[in-house]
Amino acid sequence: MARTGIFGRAMKPWSRRSTRDAGSARMALVTVPSWVERDAAIVWHGFTQMAAYADGSPIIVEAGSGRELVDTEGNHFLDGISSLWVNTLGHRVPELDAALVEQLGRIAHSTMLGNGNRVVVELAERLAAVVPVDRPHFLFGSDGAVAVEQALKIAFQYWVNAGDRQRRRFLVLGGAYHGDTIGALSLGDRGVFGEVFDPLCFPVIRSPGYADPGWAEKACAAVEAHHNELAAVVIEPLVQGAAGMWCADASDVAALGQSCRRFGVLLVCDEVATGFGRTGTLFASEQCGLRPDLLCLGKGITGGYLPMSVTVVAQPVFEAFLDRDLGPKTFFHGHSYGGNALAAAVALRHLELIEKWGILSNVVQRAGELEALLRRSILPKPAVRAVRQRGLMVGVELGAPSPELRWGRRVCARAVQRGVLLRPLGDTVVLMPPLTIERAELGHLVEVLGAAIDDVTGGQGPGEDVRGT
Ligand SMILES: *Cc1c(COP(=O)(O)O)cnc(C)c1O
Repeated sequence: MARTGIFGRAMKPWSRRSTRDAGSARMALVTVPSWVERDAAIVWHGFTQMAAYADGSPIIVEAGSGRELVDTEGNHFLDGISSLWVNTLGHRVPELDAALVEQLGRIAHSTMLGNGNRVVVELAERLAAVVPVDRPHFLFGSDGAVAVEQALKIAFQYWVNAGDRQRRRFLVLGGAYHGDTIGALSLGDRGVFGEVFDPLCFPVIRSPGYADPGWAEKACAAVEAHHNELAAVVIEPLVQGAAGMWCADASDVAALGQSCRRFGVLLVCDEVATGFGRTGTLFASEQCGLRPDLLCLGKGITGGYLPMSVTVVAQPVFEAFLDRDLGPKTFFHGHSYGGNALAAAVALRHLELIEKWGILSNVVQRAGELEALLRRSILPKPAVRAVRQRGLMVGVELGAPSPELRWGRRVCARAVQRGVLLRPLGDTVVLMPPLTIERAELGHLVEVLGAAIDDVTGGQGPGEDVRGT
């Protein structure tokens, strides 16, 4: 492995935590701050209570390769969450590194507003051959939330351009998560991440999510009841990720798609999390037989290398925007870094590698092994309420006697101490390994998870009140 390659060199003195470096601290006049201290003093981390940040033993990554991350102290961690769901093929993939370097020899970025870039055209052509969208057009952005924001503005203006001023609302599901900008947040379930921005959000029609076994019937009924005022239905096909990895039957999702067709409502599929092989097919929509009018992609699109997202738009929707120059049917929206050439070059090579390396069959095979491992050694634990999985997207829901015990948080902290990076959604521990994960690594992942659960819950269940570790 590359361990000696990375750490054969002398470590910078400030790369060690001062508290653990008593020897050199004695010799120095002042204590050199650790990387965590320097970080906590100046960087504001997303979705993180900064007053508690340093206490959570965060890791400060300096390098990585394959499925491993290496922190500033030289500790190795299995990347059990694919760097927050974005990584697919691992870190420092030589072929992706090469694509990036080659593109640097041409240009890093040029604007997509009113102009184009060769590698972006090549990427769009390549994507067009694989996305489940009819005669697709590609509007690039930089983050998943932007892809969603663009989709909902396009869906809204589509009806305006078509001369229908009634259809201006969105139907979304309970537990939905579509990103953190105000539009995406409006679609999302407030219960997932708090209500503070409620006054800024626009109202939506909400039907129960995948956690409700009758969700599909209810959603179809809502489409029927509201179709005259609906611009679009927005869903995360197959898996509601941030809600806690709630999974739906493909046939139920298909039924909702058919209902949208029947009532002429646009269907927006948010595959920011499920896209690029995560659930065993390139896109989850395929398993549900869906041909969405708009498709949102992000996260895995560059294999986790660079920020890029895209809103994929079917031909009939695209056509509704065609008109005279500067006319009101134009879509007046665009981001400075949308269609970044470096990201496009990596995304293009990434698509080729998914095919060349047979990534989808690896996902299917590894998902089967992971399911067996979880069934054998995680599900029987009294502290585990449920295990939900589609492909290499897994949620292990802990049945904590009280959320105050922060089981999810503490189990993940224990896993990190044991060399596996995990991050929970409440009391649901997420397992999202890179798609190139190997069998032995899955064994390690599940073993560490089991030990971490035992560390925190003492092998006990939700009936008993287990405190403190
Ligand atoms: C992560 C996520 C988003 C938001 O993507 P960002 O790149 O974090 O803005 C949107 N939708 C889904 C389903 C996601 O999982």
